[in-house]
Amino acid sequence: MNKAIVKLPLAIEEDVHNEFRMHTKLMLTELGKFQSKQDKDGSIRRTLQPISKTICAFLNTDGGRLFLGVNDDKIIKGITMSKNMLYHFFGSLRHMCEKFKPFSPISRIKVSILEVIPMDDKTKVKLKKVDMDKEDESDFPKLANHSVGGFFCDCFKEINQAATKQYLFIVQVAAPDPNAATVIYQNEEGLAYRRRLASNKCVYLDDLRRMMHERNRLFVDLHDEVRHEIDRFIKFH
Ligand SMILES: [Zn+2]
Repeated sequence: MNKAIVKLPLAIEEDVHNEFRMHTKLMLTELGKFQSKQDKDGSIRRTLQPISKTICAFLNTDGGRLFLGVNDDKIIKGITMSKNMLYHFFGSLRHMCEKFKPFSPISRIKVSILEVIPMDDKTKVKLKKVDMDKEDESDFPKLANHSVGGFFCDCFKEINQAATKQYLFIVQVAAPDPNAATVIYQNEEGLAYRRRLASNKCVYLDDLRRMMHERNRLFVDLHDEVRHEIDRFIKFH
């Protein structure tokens, strides 16, 4: 069975293991100026958060599922894409993983793609599994022709020109292996996140220090400036 009928809204809540998003912007560099807002005090606030934060938080906590194409009301809307844009997304995901420290978490990430087919009965939606391996690769220009990780790529124009469909992406992040050394991942911004309820919390130096004391098998490959801060702290305390 590669088709399923799902009742809406989903019977899943956003929590420590689940998050819903209506975009596929993985990294900060993919977000434009219009995706931030100036507050009254002049400070700039992001209105869209890059997905790398959530992936980083799931990696550092207990794994989870990120649903791209589901809105805050738990309705599967899907994200409009051409096949070429679909291919771009996978290139971006790989690129994002390569920017993670201490090493690429790609082996812990699995993505399922489902085509969203609307039904007359608006309380339901039909989902059809898309097998990327079975797609004809000659349909796609080479990934080198895409501006992967950038704010704009030519393939985005296809949203108005080429055949598009609605897609739901389920990005599954495996929980850490309890028998392996603990790895604290940092995303492409050099920040480490942990999942707390339904949100991503930046891991501050205090937390890192505590974790370093608590676990002797911790594998941390910190950015130099963070390492320097910790060394300084240890010297003075
Ligand atoms: Zn592209």
